Amino acid sequence: YQKKKAYRKRLHGLMRELAVYYNHTLKGEEGREALAYMKRRGAAAQIMPFGLGYAKNSFDDALRFLKARGYTVKEMLDAGVVKQKDGRVYDVFRNRVMFPIQNVFGDVIGFGGRVMDDGIPKYLNSGETVIFNKRYNLYALNTVKKRRNLKSILLVEGYMDVVALAAAGIATAVASLGTSLTKEQARLLKRYTEKVYLCYDGDDAGLNAALRGVDILEKEGLQVFVIVLPDKMDPDEFVKKYSADAFYALAKKAPAATNFRLFMLKRGFDMENPDEVVQYGTKAVELIRGLKNELEKERYIKFLSKETGISVESLFSQMGKGKEEKGYILPVKESNLIKKEAGEEAR
Ligand code: ATP
Ligand code: MN
Ligand code: MN
Ligand code: MN
Repeated sequence: YQKKKAYRKRLHGLMRELAVYYNHTLKGEEGREALAYMKRRGAAAQIMPFGLGYAKNSFDDALRFLKARGYTVKEMLDAGVVKQKDGRVYDVFRNRVMFPIQNVFGDVIGFGGRVMDDGIPKYLNSGETVIFNKRYNLYALNTVKKRRNLKSILLVEGYMDVVALAAAGIATAVASLGTSLTKEQARLLKRYTEKVYLCYDGDDAGLNAALRGVDILEKEGLQVFVIVLPDKMDPDEFVKKYSADAFYALAKKAPAATNFRLFMLKRGFDMENPDEVVQYGTKAVELIRGLKNELEKERYIKFLSKETGISVESLFSQMGKGKEEKGYILPVKESNLIKKEAGEEAR
């Protein structure tokens, strides 16, 4: 165990030295293009606070740097910064703007790297290693957690969103690491805050991911609000086009979890069509029935009544109906039945 711990420390040291090297490179002669890119994106002032860097367009620049610093190829492979193919060892990150990823203790555990044109893949992220488990970490949480009077944390999709929000003066954003939010990440957030503002990209993918995110965050006991951005924008685009104040205004009227679920449900129906209003009302009642608190139920039934023009009495009576029926429905999923039949056939 002690040996393992010492080895992890060694890899943390490797990653830190490489992050510092990438950062120096960005500020040096060979980083000119990358620096211009960051300036174009309005993020040049964030290079030091986030330790941003540049990985040269070289086959083995990082490899040679780390070798000179006394690290072995095995250590580099284990840290996930080089790869080996047909006996040749080469850098993972080449010609990319680099975002070092730190754990909550400040150790550098991985990198995200962005191309500066529309090359593919747009972002390359460190793979899983002995020191980097994506599902247990959040980008920038190590700095956000240190803020005094932290009242809430803003959860966004991308590194650039975090950086752009900071540039606009909003320094409470963290990002999940190119994967969908995990319960471990939600638990991590819960250690530092009670309240999370979820602000994923305003496209369909982002909205649907937010719907899943809300469930995960609520399950860990967090109070969740969802900031819905207009015109499929992401937080970076939004604060640039409008302002930090416009962002705060959206946050102020951000729907809580249940309102956001109702909002997403409503999107699927044509509210000009009375039949579809009834369908929406029916589905919405099912959603409200699932709430644990009776007072909340009443509140949302009233809200739904306003939305649909259906009376509170009818909505309550519909909600009661479902409750009775529930007892008669066998708690067996269709997929389970199918599996069982298939299994029986096999015998
Ligand atoms: P930018 O503004 O620089 O284009 P973005 O954050 O808006 O970046 P998105 O396409 O919205 O980029 O992706 C959000 C996040 O998802 C990224 O920060 C990255 O972590 C991850 N991601 C995006 N594209 C890829 C990819 N091709 N491979 C791995 N992860 C990716
Ligand atoms: Mn997106
Ligand atoms: Mn985006
Ligand atoms: Mn973006």
